[in-house]
Formats: sequence, C-alpha cells, structure tokens
Amino acid sequence: MTVTLALSKGRIFDETLPLLKAAGIEVTEDPETSRKLILTTNRPDVRVVLVRATDVPTYVQYGGADMGVAGKDVLLEHDGNGLYQPLDLNIARCRMSVATRADFDYAAAVKQGSRIRVATKYTTVARQHFADKGVHVDLIKLYGSMELAPLTGLADAIVDLVSTGSTLRANHLVEVEQIMPISSRLVVNQAALKLKRDILRPLIDAFESAIQP
Ligand code: ATP
Ligand code: MG
Repeated sequence: MTVTLALSKGRIFDETLPLLKAAGIEVTEDPETSRKLILTTNRPDVRVVLVRATDVPTYVQYGGADMGVAGKDVLLEHDGNGLYQPLDLNIARCRMSVATRADFDYAAAVKQGSRIRVATKYTTVARQHFADKGVHVDLIKLYGSMELAPLTGLADAIVDLVSTGSTLRANHLVEVEQIMPISSRLVVNQAALKLKRDILRPLIDAFESAIQP
C-alpha cells in the first residue's frame, strides 16, 4: 500500500519538510530543480505530488492524494466534504486582511448601510466579513495581483493575505482591517484514513508531535 501526500511548491512545501523529517520521511528530489510532479521519498510507501495550492483540497477530497497540506484561506473557499482536518500545522502563517489606497476613507465607506467595491480571490470570506458588518459589497473575483485593483480604480479595497506587509507598502496600500489569522492545516481523505490507517495514523501522530507553537 502506498500513501500519496499533496503539497504545493514554495512555502508550504518548504515548511512541511521539517514535519516530514520528524516523521522519518525525506523527500529525495528537489521540486525547484526537478520538473517532476511526483516526488519519491526515502520510504517506498510514501510519495509526494506537487499541485497548485488551491487544488490540494480537491486532490484529497477525491482520493487523488490521501492527505495534503492546505492553507486555511484555501480551505475556507473550498466547498465540499469528505475532508478530515485533524491538525493545524501552524506553518505558512499570515493573516487575511482588508487593504485600500492610503487616501481612501475606509471608516466612512463601511458605515452601516453603505456600499463598497472589493476585489479578491477570497470571495467567500470577503462576502461573509462584510455581511457581518452590515456593509453592502460588490465583489470582483480576481486570481492574482490583487494589489493592482485599488490602484487602477477597479475596486475600493482588496481582501488578501498579508505577512510582512511589504507587498502592500511597495504598492502604496494600507492594511485597514485584519479579518483572521491564517495557517496551513493537514487534510486527510476520510476513506483513506480507514483503509490506510496503519500508515497514516503514525504519520499524523508524528506531525502532531513536531508542530512548533
Ligand atoms: P500561485 O502563487 O501559484 O498562484 P498561490 O498564491 O495560491 O498560488 P502561494 O502564494 O504559494 O500560492 O500560497 C500558498 C499558501 O501559502 C496560501 O494558500 C497561504 O495559505 C499561504 N500564504 C500565501 N501568502 C502568504 C504569505 N505572504 N505569508 C505566509 N503564508 C502565505
Ligand atoms: Mg502566490
């Protein structure tokens, strides 16, 4: 029996490596130099597949992978069940925030009953956030480079991930509200957890012991 772990390249892959190591697993190929999408490990029964960050829940939900690591941002936008989320791995930490141009009066724009135009990849979270505040929102779905939207007049505000704030600063945007902290979680296919329990359970336990506070 083989276990497949879905990861996305970049910070999630990099920050998952120490957790894998704690579970005795070492990825034997470097995704930054190899073009392979399936990576072997030192364990013949464990392999890693590289997918887009937003595709990780889909792979795990439908059994293309037995488990994966996905940001809370991605999981909140993913509709569907069959995903067991046993652990917050506390990696790839950042926050979901609202940002605007420095000259935009956000406080006035979110007075009860007002209307605001928001561009974001995170339409589910943004819709809920502004509904909770009683603000009417016109949402514009984007897939990247959200910082451009307020600069070009496409939107008044964006909802995006912020860690250091340097991307916002470089684009003369201001973080005007924090919505929630974000980190990445382990997601497991529920059927796989039963069928491959002998491999998966010790991995989950080892990850849990290796989580950094
Ligand atoms: P792509 O860059 O390929 O279009 P993506 O933007 O979804 O895809 P990443 O930027 O690598 O992929 O982000 C992957 C995950 O890492 C996100 O879902 C989020 O949970 C987390 N993340 C994103 N930006 C940051 C950040 N600035 N700091 C920390 N974690 C982040
Ligand atoms: Mg990105």
